Amino acid sequence: MGRAFVYVIVGGGVAAGYAAHEFVKRGVSRGELCIISEETVAPYERPALSKGYLFPEAPARLPSFHCCVGTNEERLAPKWYKEHGIELILGTRVKSADVRRKTLLTATGETISYKYLIVATGARALKLEEFGLNGSDAANVCYLRDLADADRLVNVMKSCPGGNAVVIGGGYIGMECTASLVLNKLNVTMVFPEAHCLARLFTPKIAKYYEEFYQSKGVKFIKGTVLTSFDFNSDGKVTAVNLRNSGKLLVDMVVIGIGIRPNASLFEGQLTMEKGGIKVNGKMQSSNSSVFAVGDVAAFPVKVVGETRRLEHVDSARKTARHAVASIMEPGKTGDFDYLPFFYSRVFTLSWQFYGDNAGEVVHFGDFSGSSFGAYWIHKGHLVGSFLEGGTKEHYEAIAWATRLKPEIKDLSELERQGFDFALSL
Ligand code: FAD
Ligand code: NDP
Repeated sequence: MGRAFVYVIVGGGVAAGYAAHEFVKRGVSRGELCIISEETVAPYERPALSKGYLFPEAPARLPSFHCCVGTNEERLAPKWYKEHGIELILGTRVKSADVRRKTLLTATGETISYKYLIVATGARALKLEEFGLNGSDAANVCYLRDLADADRLVNVMKSCPGGNAVVIGGGYIGMECTASLVLNKLNVTMVFPEAHCLARLFTPKIAKYYEEFYQSKGVKFIKGTVLTSFDFNSDGKVTAVNLRNSGKLLVDMVVIGIGIRPNASLFEGQLTMEKGGIKVNGKMQSSNSSVFAVGDVAAFPVKVVGETRRLEHVDSARKTARHAVASIMEPGKTGDFDYLPFFYSRVFTLSWQFYGDNAGEVVHFGDFSGSSFGAYWIHKGHLVGSFLEGGTKEHYEAIAWATRLKPEIKDLSELERQGFDFALSL
């Protein structure tokens, strides 16, 4: 059995939702577009899962956070796809792809053919087993990538009020889940191998601010070590976490956020890969001209840094998706994607944004004992990255603009003296 579509999107996450929206804006006809997703719900704003979804009071639930509410645009509930004649095949994994024949084979045995394919398969959470440990399937060990994981996390949190949680990993999942666990009144210890949290982005000075804030909420940090094993009870639940050279922690639950791997395996040996993902050009087009890749799975040329990068953040997923659709539907009018990397997070009452690249020397500014401060990164004599905590919309726009301009910086101490005013002055 089989069906044929002009456009097929494999994957039904953030990028798929924004791509569908863009297809409709650009006048896709009924019956031309199909989305195949392993998830059982229509595309939604994944960032909600580590924030509003975990709130103890009035938590966010679907359909409230379907795409594209994250950018204050219309909310694409399942009805929207039906109204626009878009075939939404949910709960269905694509198990193989043949880019030469332009076909996909689903786990239900259906062959779906396409003229253009958009790969939006995102990424999967790295498991402990990939580091030679075991215990990922214990009832009180949680990961967080999709809705099913989030429901499991909510249930586990509710099963041990006032209990002890250990969070493994000091990245985005670790930081955001810790804040949510605290709001749910768990006692949290964060464990990670680096010297400070969010080590790939934060400077030691920035990290110190967040760590002290977390400590003021009762969070403990054990840094520079890793998990070596779990202790289990007779039900298979984890009762303790054993750390390298740092003893044992008794636990009621564990959350693991140790990074991701892009879901690119369907196309290995068929498309050119880079940085663990599918390599695309400035049109988001892969080494096969009918196949485009977007979101977490795509490695694309980031002009502003002069490198091919794979970004794992929602703004990039939304914009690469829209750009791929523009490239497919209006190739003559669509140039190369020119993206300024943008990352953000919100935890407790804190909120930060980062633009550009965190390369080179750092100049901090603002009041690190107060509620608003930031940093600039200067590489080869130009400002290439900006970070700001506690800004207003206008403030964030100012640092984004300054970073986009890449101004020449001759005197770092003068930049430090001007601080945030430098961005405002451009
Ligand atoms: P995804 O949204 O992961 O979607 C991939 C989809 O493909 C899924 O539906 C998956 O089931 C499906 N799929 C995969 N393989 C197959 C297959 N073989 N067949 C069928 N379907 C398949 N970024 C930020 O910038 N800010 C944030 O605050 C933020 N918070 C986050 C919170 C959480 C809990 C998580 C997990 C991520 C967060 N991110 C955040 C990152 C952001 O959500 C991702 O960058 C974004 O979701 C990537 O979009 P995507 O469409 O590429 O992948
Ligand atoms: P990250 O890559 O952000 O962080 C992973 C962390 O785990 C790093 O501190 C890493 O250290 C550490 N780590 C790696 N291996 C081990 C190990 N064996 N034991 C202990 N710690 C380890 O990934 P996350 O899992 O936090 O996030 C998953 C994805 O979700 C990412 O793509 C992220 O961008 C996205 N996300 C984004 C958010 C946002 O933008 N606000 C919010 C939530 C998720 P090291 O650096 O040394 O490898």
